[in-house]
Amino acid sequence: MLQPILFALLLLAAFGLFAWQIQKIRANILVGRTRDMSGHLGERLNKTLLVAFGQQKMFKRITPALLHLVVYVGFLVINIEVVEIIIDGLFGTHRFLSFLGPVYDALMAVNEVLAALVIIAVAAFWWRRNRNPPVRRFTGPELRMWPKLDANIILYIEVALMIALFFMNSADIQLHQLEGKDLPGVFPVSYFLADLLPASNVGTLHMLERTGWWIHITGILLFLNYLPSSKHFHIIMAFPNVWYSRLVPQGQFSNVESITHEVKAMMDPSYEVPVPAVAADGSALAPTPFGAKDVEDLPWTALMNSYSCTECGRCTSVCPANLTGKLLSPRKIIMDTRDRVEEKYNSPLIFHPNVYGEEAKHQPITDLANATLLRGKVTPEELWACTTCNACVESCPVNINPLESIIEMRRFLVLEESAAPNSLNVMFSNIENNGAPWAFSPSDRLNWADDLYVAERATV
Ligand code: SF4
Ligand code: SF4
Repeated sequence: MLQPILFALLLLAAFGLFAWQIQKIRANILVGRTRDMSGHLGERLNKTLLVAFGQQKMFKRITPALLHLVVYVGFLVINIEVVEIIIDGLFGTHRFLSFLGPVYDALMAVNEVLAALVIIAVAAFWWRRNRNPPVRRFTGPELRMWPKLDANIILYIEVALMIALFFMNSADIQLHQLEGKDLPGVFPVSYFLADLLPASNVGTLHMLERTGWWIHITGILLFLNYLPSSKHFHIIMAFPNVWYSRLVPQGQFSNVESITHEVKAMMDPSYEVPVPAVAADGSALAPTPFGAKDVEDLPWTALMNSYSCTECGRCTSVCPANLTGKLLSPRKIIMDTRDRVEEKYNSPLIFHPNVYGEEAKHQPITDLANATLLRGKVTPEELWACTTCNACVESCPVNINPLESIIEMRRFLVLEESAAPNSLNVMFSNIENNGAPWAFSPSDRLNWADDLYVAERATV
C-alpha cells in the first residue's frame, strides 16, 4: 500500500512542477507581439505531419537523420511502457498491459530492440559532439558553457534510462525463472543480460527489479522537469512550432502596417487611415515601435521559435555570412532570443541565463533593466551581415525562421535609430532624391540611350 501512495505523490509533484514550468514558458512566449495565425488548417496539418511527425527535413543529411529516427521512434514506443509503469505504480499491479497477449509480446520485443539501438545512436551522437576535431556545426561561441553541457547531459540521461529499463527487465526475468513462473512479454536483450545478474535468491532479485523500476520512472520524471531548461524541449515544442509555420513564400517580407497605411494615403488621398486603437480607459496607446529592439517587439511566433530550437546548427552551417567568416550565426540569434526572454521574464527551474549563460561568465550584465536583445545580445554587425538568402529558414528541421527576427531588428535600427550602415544611408537618400538607388538625377536616366544612339551612328 505504501508504494502506490509514494508513487502517486511522486507523480503529482513531477507533473505539478512540469505544469508550473510550462505555464512560465507560455507566459514568456505571450510577451511577444500579437499575430493572427488562425485558418489554413489543412495546410498546417499537412506540414505538421510531414515536418514534425515525419521528420521530412532531417533527411537532407542521412546519417544524423537515421540516428535521430532511432531515438525519436524509441522515445515514442518506450512511452507506451511508461504508461504501463504508471498504471502499475498507481494500482499495485505488475505488467498491467500483459493482458494484450501477443501484442504485448511484440511491444516488449520492439521496445527492447529500440532501447538497445537508442544506446548505440546516443553513443554515436556523443562521439560526433565530442570528437576532436569536432563536427563544424557543433562548434561556435554560442555552444560554449551551458549548451555544450546540456547536450551531453541529455545523452547521459538517455543512456541511464535505457540501462535502468534493461536492469528492471533482466531482474524480472530471473525472478520469474527462480519462482518457476512465465514472465509475460518477449525480451530479446534482457534474456541475455539476466544471466549476468549476480543475485540468486527471490528477495534480492525482487529488490533489484524494484530498484530498476524506480530508477527508470524517477529518471523519466526528472527528465520531464529538466526539459524546459534544455534544448531537448524541442521534443514538445517542435509540434506547435511547425503547426504555426509561416505559410507565405519564403522571400516575401511582411510590411509595417502603419507605413503601409501612410503609403496608401499618399497614393490615394481618399484612402482612410484606420483610427489607432485606444486603451480600455480611453487613453491613447503608446505607439508600436518600428521593428524590434527587445523580445516584446517580436511576434509571439518568433519567441516560440526560440523554445523549439534544437541547437543543431544546420542553419549556421549553410549561412553564407557565417561560412565567409562573418560574425553572424542564425542559431545564435535564436538562442539569444530565448536567453533574453528568460533573463527578463521567467526562467525555468534549472537553467538561468544570468547564472549559466555566456554573459554570466565572460561579460556580466550590470544593467538588467536597460539591457535589450538588440545590442545587449545581438550586435548590429551580426544583423547587417545577413544576405536575406533564407538558407537558414530552408534548412531548419523544425521550421524556425531566424531571418524574421533579423529583419525586425534591422528595421528598428533603420526606422527608429537611423543607424543603417553608410552605404545603405546613401542608397536611401538617392531613392528619396532621385527616385532610384543610384546617385544620378532622374533627368539623366535616359542618357544611356543617347550614348547608344551616338555609338551606333559612329559605326554605320
Ligand atoms: S538569411 Fe541571413 S542568417 Fe539566414 S542563412 Fe541567409 S545570410 Fe544567414
Ligand atoms: S534554428 Fe533550426 S536549424 Fe538552426 S539550430 Fe535551431 S533548430 Fe537547428
